[in-house]
Amino acid sequence: MTREFCVLGNPIAHSRSPQIHELFAQQFEHNLCYRRQLATVDRFSRVVAGLFRQGLAGANVTVPFKVQAYQLVTRTTAEASFARAVNTLIPQRDGGLLGANTDGKGLLYDLKRQGVDLSGCKVLLIGAGGAARGVLKNLLDAKPEGIWIYNRTTANARALSELSTGVHCVESWSSLAAVDVVINATSASLFGQLPDVPERMYRHAEFIYDMFYGAELTGFLKHVQQVSDARCSDGLGMLVGQAAESYRLWWGSELPRIEPVIRVLRQQLVEPS
Ligand code: NDP
Repeated sequence: MTREFCVLGNPIAHSRSPQIHELFAQQFEHNLCYRRQLATVDRFSRVVAGLFRQGLAGANVTVPFKVQAYQLVTRTTAEASFARAVNTLIPQRDGGLLGANTDGKGLLYDLKRQGVDLSGCKVLLIGAGGAARGVLKNLLDAKPEGIWIYNRTTANARALSELSTGVHCVESWSSLAAVDVVINATSASLFGQLPDVPERMYRHAEFIYDMFYGAELTGFLKHVQQVSDARCSDGLGMLVGQAAESYRLWWGSELPRIEPVIRVLRQQLVEPS
């Protein structure tokens, strides 16, 4: 039997989720139909209710609906409660919806794939928007020595740092000598800009991750590579990793293999057909 899924967003035409889930389904020989669903803020709840009434087996939610999705679900995973945002909807037997946030697991799967273990590490998280909040619980679960959040608007970093012990707000760079891992969770690259972080933070780091990705090395990683020998990665693996976790939750399967799907997507980014 074919199970139906969709990803809801606005805009949505660019979403790679259908292809990612089709590639996962091939790994398990599952029958799946996964489509893009455009929605509007006004109609989002009604669209979701209608789709699940018609038998949808699960949905992903992307910009700008992750907070709205959190507000409409009947239960949430620990990550979604922490993030107060949901990217995965799972229908429940009682007619309710479970909301999960798989971004943090997706990031950790990608870090693990690349041999990065955060335990005992000092982590600098740049950015305090939805993506930073979405991954924070999983970063904490990885038992780093501490997480330092720097953000253009300090008040937003301070608010995130107050969510848990072990998370600090960078109010002044003089309070932080060096870190092991840097994660860029800002959308500065979208605007061709760089976060305002001293170069020494990159120079002393061992691993630097940019959640953004594209056909070329991101502007952030280009800059970083000029000043640091740290190993670097963009966020394509996180995109595939978060989808893999959604897939696992919907199908009750093992985690799909991430690496071959990243290879396909990378190839298509570099050589679009
Ligand atoms: P939000 O709009 O929620 O947050 C944006 C963040 O970036 C804020 O901290 C904002 O700071 C900061 N920012 C924006 N512009 C600049 C700038 N010019 N200079 C410095 N900081 C800036 O976006 P998200 O958190 O949802 O997404 C952030 C990034 O993460 C995006 O690039 C997105 O593509 C990527 N992402 C990747 C995923 C993946 O799977 N690879 C998953 C989710 C997100 P301020 O508070 O001051 O406005």
